[in-house]
Amino acid sequence: MHRYQKTISHRLQISGKGLHSGETMDAVLSPLPIGSGIWFQRTDNPGARPVRASWENVTDTRLATTIGLADESVGTLEHLLAALYGLGISNLMIEVSGPEVPILDGSASPWASLLKKAGIATLQAPRSFYKVTRPFTVADDDGCKSLTVEPADRFSVDCEIDFPGYVGQQRRTFAFSQSGFVSEIAPARTFCMEKDVEEMKRNGKALGGGLDNAVVFGENGRVLNPEGLRFKDECVRHKILDFLGDLSLAQFPVIGRFTAVRTGHTMNQRFLQALLRAPGVLATVNPMAPSKAGGFSFPSLTPAHVLPPM
Ligand SMILES: [Zn+2]
Repeated sequence: MHRYQKTISHRLQISGKGLHSGETMDAVLSPLPIGSGIWFQRTDNPGARPVRASWENVTDTRLATTIGLADESVGTLEHLLAALYGLGISNLMIEVSGPEVPILDGSASPWASLLKKAGIATLQAPRSFYKVTRPFTVADDDGCKSLTVEPADRFSVDCEIDFPGYVGQQRRTFAFSQSGFVSEIAPARTFCMEKDVEEMKRNGKALGGGLDNAVVFGENGRVLNPEGLRFKDECVRHKILDFLGDLSLAQFPVIGRFTAVRTGHTMNQRFLQALLRAPGVLATVNPMAPSKAGGFSFPSLTPAHVLPPM
């Protein structure tokens, strides 16, 4: 794992569609100092306060992960969070001009590329992390979905999914490395069935969704995207990506061997909350009290370093 705290070297700005609202959002990412953590700030509502990317601030896990309340809330942030987790960026301000982070291509690759172009700055402070001291499991009532973590010296996740009728069963293990994240996990796109997209659009969701930001399956599991899949098991890779993004809301990386069976954002969050509240399961290494809002100065809205189109 990344041993030192990191941020980015230059501010960067990107615009893109929100998956559910369909509106175009601007996102500006700015460096923050040691101990700050990851923060989101809505810029379209002058009264909105910054919201820390923390499990304690999660307010919705249907379809995507959302933090904050009402006009402060920011959703669909898990792919950006996964990219930050994969690259070890632990201090960052993300200003968003609407209720969602741009979906870009539905994976974490564009975020990882943008962050690398902005430059990754290593800060002179060790990263805090959690070590797992004993096995811990959360399962749903019928045991169909479950998440387990066991003590281990490095992070790994063994993920299994089952979507009968289109994706079917897939299973993959990912042992963390930054290069492995960038090449094996980050490019995997979100996925859905065509009939579910139509249903969501009727309900005012996924209005920005399409073949340019999701893998869409038609009848009998046929992939409707003309370019096809990026990996044969792209779907389980994306579930690992989502899991990394959701797990990053623990604020410190959790070092352990995870087993994820048919999980999604709701189960990920249930597990995380139970894990962080369970006595004696996690030991904090390099403890460092995260600063609260106001413990550092938030960046002003000066023009950002604008990157050329990708
Ligand atoms: Zn996702």
